[in-house]
Amino acid sequence: MDKPVYKRVLLKVSGEALMGDQGFGIDVNVADRIASDIAEVRALGVEVGIVVGGGNIFRGVAVASKGGERVTGDHMGMLGTVINALALATSLRKMQVETVVLSAIAMPEICESFSQRATRGHLDAGRVVIFAGGTGNPFFTTDSAAALRAAEMGAEAIFKGTQVDGIYSADPKKHLDAERYDHLTHQEVLARGLQVMDVAAVAVARENSIPIIVFSIHDRGGFGQIMSGGGRKTIVTE
Ligand code: UDP
Repeated sequence: MDKPVYKRVLLKVSGEALMGDQGFGIDVNVADRIASDIAEVRALGVEVGIVVGGGNIFRGVAVASKGGERVTGDHMGMLGTVINALALATSLRKMQVETVVLSAIAMPEICESFSQRATRGHLDAGRVVIFAGGTGNPFFTTDSAAALRAAEMGAEAIFKGTQVDGIYSADPKKHLDAERYDHLTHQEVLARGLQVMDVAAVAVARENSIPIIVFSIHDRGGFGQIMSGGGRKTIVTE
């Protein structure tokens, strides 16, 4: 493979991606497949941080929509992200990729707690860092956590792995005439209300001049191809 385009990146993997064709939870084969793509990029010498979502296990709004307390629902959602982080770490370690899980919510018996200092140390030591627990705050999403952690770790780009191969004007699975974009600015994404990452996440990326690269997480080897300058993606820049 060619010299990688970036030296330090943040990958966002949604909980939905880990679910595979199941309606809930984690498909270990899918987690292994995603881990193999990450291992490939790590083998290029790229420093990788990963934020995992939790939507395959729980979303806080599900509690709130049934009259429950949103904050408790969000706590449940954040705990779901820890389960996913442990699953992805397990898949990476099976492939001999040194990996550490850092949680925004302290649970020392299970994993290390997040700090920027610990993150930098682990990345410098060549470990893949998986950020669990989102931002650690209710009313946020793991997309926002991805932008935040990317800024904190000094990532040169946020890789947002999605169900489709880039950003479209509408959901291409529902609208066959949806337009696909190769390149957009952060401002265009915000102004057009494109559903790629939430507004807070795009705003943090814009303020910190971090490009967002949207690609299909199901495209085997896609992460590595983009890292080598090719691949199918939409790039969001200033
Ligand atoms: N969550 C939260 N704060 C955060 C990140 C996540 O409260 O900083 C909760 C929230 O309830 C959310 C759930 O965790 O619905 C799962 O995260 P998300 O929906 O972002 O996961 P994804 O859609 O990426 O699988």
